[in-house]
Amino acid sequence: MSDRSSIASGHGHQESRVCFCGLPCPLRTSSSKDNPGRRYVGCPKFKDGTGTHCKFFDWIDDLVNDRTRAMLSELKIKNKLLEDQLRHKEVVESRLYFLLFALYGLCLALSSMLMYVIFGVPQGIDRRKLPF
Ligand SMILES: [Zn+2]
Repeated sequence: MSDRSSIASGHGHQESRVCFCGLPCPLRTSSSKDNPGRRYVGCPKFKDGTGTHCKFFDWIDDLVNDRTRAMLSELKIKNKLLEDQLRHKEVVESRLYFLLFALYGLCLALSSMLMYVIFGVPQGIDRRKLPF
């Protein structure tokens, strides 16, 4: 009997694995310095801190060479920089929308005042109670 069953993934056909405990092993992605982005499977009890895991571990992706690792690291830094720039632009954009809304309100108020100046105060309104 096989300990593998097939599942589909975003990168084609992958196999799900079952560890020696009989538990399905989720596909994980390494974020370590030596293996950034490298996918692996392992016993799901590995990180529960009890030390009862079965030590099943297997890399899914091949070892990344130094040049690719350096490129991945550089891309991560560029991605972080672009995310920071995007966050900054979103803050600026929200401030500009607030300013636009305030200017719109000011234009409405000024146009109302201009209408009163041009056409006068409508009948039935006490002129002494107007702010201008
Ligand atoms: Zn296990």
